[in-house]
Amino acid sequence: MILIDGKKIASDIRNEIKDKVEQIRLATNSSPCLATILVGDNPASQTYINSKIKACQSCGIQSVHHNLKANAPKEKIISLIEELNKNPDIDAILLQLPFADSSIEQECINAIAPAKDADGLHPFNAGFLTLLKSQKEISQKNILAACTPLGIIRLLQKSNIGISGKTAVVVGRSNLVGKPLSLLLLANDATVIMTHSKTKNLKEICKSADILIAALGRAKFINKDFIKDGAAVIDVGINRTEQGLMGDVDFESVQDMNIQITPVPGGVGPMTIAMLLENTLKAFIKNKRVL
Ligand code: NAP
Repeated sequence: MILIDGKKIASDIRNEIKDKVEQIRLATNSSPCLATILVGDNPASQTYINSKIKACQSCGIQSVHHNLKANAPKEKIISLIEELNKNPDIDAILLQLPFADSSIEQECINAIAPAKDADGLHPFNAGFLTLLKSQKEISQKNILAACTPLGIIRLLQKSNIGISGKTAVVVGRSNLVGKPLSLLLLANDATVIMTHSKTKNLKEICKSADILIAALGRAKFINKDFIKDGAAVIDVGINRTEQGLMGDVDFESVQDMNIQITPVPGGVGPMTIAMLLENTLKAFIKNKRVL
């Protein structure tokens, strides 16, 4: 088993972002600013927001945090987003998900200006992925794509795991991970199989994967019987269990396999944050027309 070191790859990307932000600051006396919004006080969400704010600081990106009460009405959240959309000092907006009331999530995401959509979840940015012929178009057309999928593609590229022509099986079809990732893999010329909770013969399908993405949110669900010899396995899952933080892959059962795999923690998580920083910088460059 060979570990794919997401922490190291993310740290290299963050250093590159830091250098770029510093160059821009020297040339223009300005720097990008991310607005974060947390609704409620869910401890896991609070931890994620804190690490995103800390990551911004470490790269010279400014951040402004807004914490709304858990019972904040949809109108109040949307009005804050609209204010941030209009504010020229704010380059990107991050709405921490999930909400306690998931029924209002999409409407709030829809209120974010697509050009400030740090998480790439607005229908304009998410929908653009269906039109992609190659991933290059994302930078050419300045699209903000979803952070976790972007981070996974970057992990594969930086680990020299070719995508073109490979069979990629994605377990999970969420708007946050599974769907946008499947579209990015397709744009990188993989043959993509998207699976979900109603998929029959999941084990057999997963076993056909050269690249297997586990993004279902079920601790240790994917074991050695799902994995082909020589595969690259990306474990997206973050499951808080009594035994601690766990991925979707049963890490112990695959220890002796001839595979490459991301650990949890230290695999996909740091890449998601690195891509958030990259999207914030991208939004700043596009909106302020610097460079
Ligand atoms: P989600 O919205 O709950 O979606 C889970 C997906 O998995 C759904 O499409 C569901 O199918 C599918 N699924 C559930 N049980 C299944 C089963 N037994 N067999 C096959 N498919 C099954 O979750 P998410 O937001 O995509 O997140 C997935 C995991 O990744 C979570 O653990 C989350 O914490 C983690 N995550 C990590 C990062 C990171 O940066 N590392 C970022 C985002 C998410 P249906 O559609 O049929 O219900």
